[in-house]
Amino acid sequence: MERITVYCGSSPGKDPAYQAAAIELGKIMASRNITLVYGGGSVGLMGILARTVVNEGGQVIGVIPRAIADMEVAYTELQDLRIVEDMHSRKALMADLADAFIALPGGMGTIEELMEVLTWSQLGFHQKPIGILNIAGFFDPMLVFLERLSKEEFITPEHKSMLIVDDKPERLLHQFSEYTPPLVDKAKRALKLSKKNA
Ligand code: AMP
Repeated sequence: MERITVYCGSSPGKDPAYQAAAIELGKIMASRNITLVYGGGSVGLMGILARTVVNEGGQVIGVIPRAIADMEVAYTELQDLRIVEDMHSRKALMADLADAFIALPGGMGTIEELMEVLTWSQLGFHQKPIGILNIAGFFDPMLVFLERLSKEEFITPEHKSMLIVDDKPERLLHQFSEYTPPLVDKAKRALKLSKKNA
């Protein structure tokens, strides 16, 4: 695994455990020579994570849209800071560059980015592992909601289980190494359901 895209808050969050997790993840990525791909900002958990990787001698690729480079205080000292036209180009490039995805705690941007790569995996557009670092139970309500989606038959159990959950970066990376993507793809399932209901 050469590059991991990490989605995380442009704010540091309330619980210091979130910052500690960003630092722990950054250190592990640098020590394993895994390049961090992230949103290019210097604020919040994004900044903490990227600075940790740089300080530990690791590699970082920042991807930031021109229009929000000021808002998120682009990490201009990065050796590889890619300024893109818009949010869509940012997300596409961050997804293309990654061998896997991790979400740390964050706000709406983080959740949106996480859901997007999950839906792309569900559609069979990629087969890269996707994990969340569930620090201090931050993602518990989202996991309950995903369970609900499955119970109500809006997603299959296989697609729900695409999301790899751990609260330790080391263990999450280990789970990535054992990940096998689900065989069920959403398009095939829709066809099967429509035949069943015909
Ligand atoms: P947040 O989790 O809201 O603090 O944002 C984390 C990162 O997600 C920041 O780099 C935001 O620019 C980015 N972001 C915010 N909204 C979106 C969106 N709709 N799509 C993709 N990324 C977003």
